[in-house]
Amino acid sequence: MNAPNKSGWKPAMTADGDTVGGPATYTGNRALMLDEALIFEIGDKNTTGVDLPEPDTNAPNRLGGMERAADIGLPGLSEPETVRHYTRLSRQNYAIDLGLFPLGSCTMKHNPRLNEKVARMPGFADLHPMAPTSTTQGALAVIYQLAEWLKTLTGMPAVAMSPKAGAHGELCGILAIRAALEARGDARKVVLCPESAHGTNPATAAFAGYEVEDIPATPEGRVDLAALEARLGPDVAAVMITNPNTCGLFERDFRKIADAVHAAGGLVYCDGANFNAIVGRVRPGDLGVDAMHINLHKTFSTPHGGGGPGSGPVVFSEALAPFAPLPFVEKTVDGYELVEEETAGDHHQLSFGRMTAFHGQMGMFTRALTYMLSHGADGLKQVSEDAVLNANYILRSLEDVLFAPYADSGPCMHEALFGDKGFAEGMTTLDLAKGLIDEGFHPMTMYFPLVVHGAMLVEPTETESKAALDQFIGAMRSVAERAIAGDQSLKTAPHYAPMRRLDETLAARKPVLAWSDPGLV
Ligand SMILES: *Cc1c(COP(=O)(O)O)cnc(C)c1O
Repeated sequence: MNAPNKSGWKPAMTADGDTVGGPATYTGNRALMLDEALIFEIGDKNTTGVDLPEPDTNAPNRLGGMERAADIGLPGLSEPETVRHYTRLSRQNYAIDLGLFPLGSCTMKHNPRLNEKVARMPGFADLHPMAPTSTTQGALAVIYQLAEWLKTLTGMPAVAMSPKAGAHGELCGILAIRAALEARGDARKVVLCPESAHGTNPATAAFAGYEVEDIPATPEGRVDLAALEARLGPDVAAVMITNPNTCGLFERDFRKIADAVHAAGGLVYCDGANFNAIVGRVRPGDLGVDAMHINLHKTFSTPHGGGGPGSGPVVFSEALAPFAPLPFVEKTVDGYELVEEETAGDHHQLSFGRMTAFHGQMGMFTRALTYMLSHGADGLKQVSEDAVLNANYILRSLEDVLFAPYADSGPCMHEALFGDKGFAEGMTTLDLAKGLIDEGFHPMTMYFPLVVHGAMLVEPTETESKAALDQFIGAMRSVAERAIAGDQSLKTAPHYAPMRRLDETLAARKPVLAWSDPGLV
C-alpha cells in the first residue's frame, strides 16, 4: 500500500551528497521514520471504513433529482489505514511535547495535562451557549473568576472576555478607544506604533480606519520618548505599544509615555502579548494603560499554533470601561448573570457593541483558570521570573558567538534577540534555522522584529530545564559557528528532515493546494 517514494520523500543525504546510513530503501522509509504518500495516492474508491447498506434502488426517489450525478473522487480507506495515515503524518511534525520550541513572541509553553482534563469536563465542554443561565452557573463562575484574576493581575477595573485572539483583542481595544473619543466629540485620525511593533498593531489600527505612523526607537531598542512627545497633538487618537517590547526589553519610560499621551488627549493601548515576562511583578494599570489584550494562549498556557484556538481578553481603565463590549458576567445575590443588550443598565449603554456572538472561548477560559489556580499568585510570579531567567541565560550564553544588538541595554525580558551580523558572506538567518532542524529543534522566530537585520528571536519559556537549555545553546552555537565559517553544507540544510530544503519562492508563487488523479475523479 505504501508505494515507494510517492510523496517525494528523498533519502537523507550527507553534506557530500551520500545517502545517510547507506543506500535508499525500497519503501523510502528510514527505519522508524516512515514515508507517507498523499491520502489520494493511497486510497481507492472501492475501499471504505464503514459498512453501509446497499441503496434500495426500487424505493421512490425522495431527493427529487438532487442526488449527485458524478463521483466526487474522495479516496476510500479502511479504518486502520486511515489511522495509520494520520499517525504517520503526525510523526513528521515537531511539537511542544517532543522538544523545546524556541519561537519568540509566541510563548509556546508546556500545557499541563490537568488543563486538558478540566477543559474536557462535560459540564464545560458540552454546554450550549444559549442554555439558560440557571443551568450554566458553573461556567459563568469560571468566566467571572478568570475575569477577577485578570483584573487583579493587571490592576485594571474592567475586562472584556469575548475576543478570540490577541489581534481580535487589539481590535476590541481600538474600537473602545474610538467609541470613547467619539463620545466626547473628538474623533481623531492617527494611531502611533513603534517601529518594532508586531504586525497586528498597525494592521488593527488601519482596519479600524486610522492612519498609522511610526515612532522611532532609541539605539538601545526602546521607544524614543522625545520623538513621541514631539509627534503628539490633537490628531493622535492613541499609541499602541508592546511592553515588554518585541526586542525583548521592558519599556522603562512607559509611565512617562502614558502621561504624555493622556496630556495630549490621546489614549494608551498596550499590546500585552508579552505579559508572560511581568505577571506578578508589574501591573499595567499602574503604568497608565487604558486597554491591553492578554493572550491567554501565550501567558496562561493552552496549546496553540496552527491557527488556534486562542483567546484575547482585554482589560480596560476607568476611562474606557463604559465602552467595553457586551456581554459580560456579573455576580448578583442570586448568582451569576449575563449582562446583555437588554439587561445593560445606563452605565453600559455606551458599549460599542459585540465582538462575538457569544461569550468567548470557554475551552481557553477553563485552561487559563486551571493554570492560575494550580500555580497560585506566588507561582505565577515565579513563572515570569523563571521565564526571564531562562531567556537571560540564553542571551549571555550566546552573545559571544551571535550578534546580540541590545545586549548592553540591560537584562532582557522573556526573550533573547540576535542578528546575523558576523555571518560569512552569503550565509543567512534562514540557513541557520534550517541547520537547527537537523539538530532536532524547531527554529526560533526569524526576521522579526524588523528593526534587527536577520533577526533571531528566542523565547525559551519557564518550563525548560537547564539541561534542555544547555542542549539548545550547544546546538545554536554549533550552527552559528558554521554560519560564521561559511560552511556551505548549511545552504542545503536540512539534510536529515523528512523534507529537504524547499523552494520557498515557488511555494509562495505557485502553491499546489490540491492533488487530482484523473483515474480517481
Ligand atoms: C502573538 C502576538 C500578537 C497577536 O496575537 P494572536 O493571538 O496571534 O492574534 C500581537 N502582538 C504580539 C507582540 C504578539 O506576540
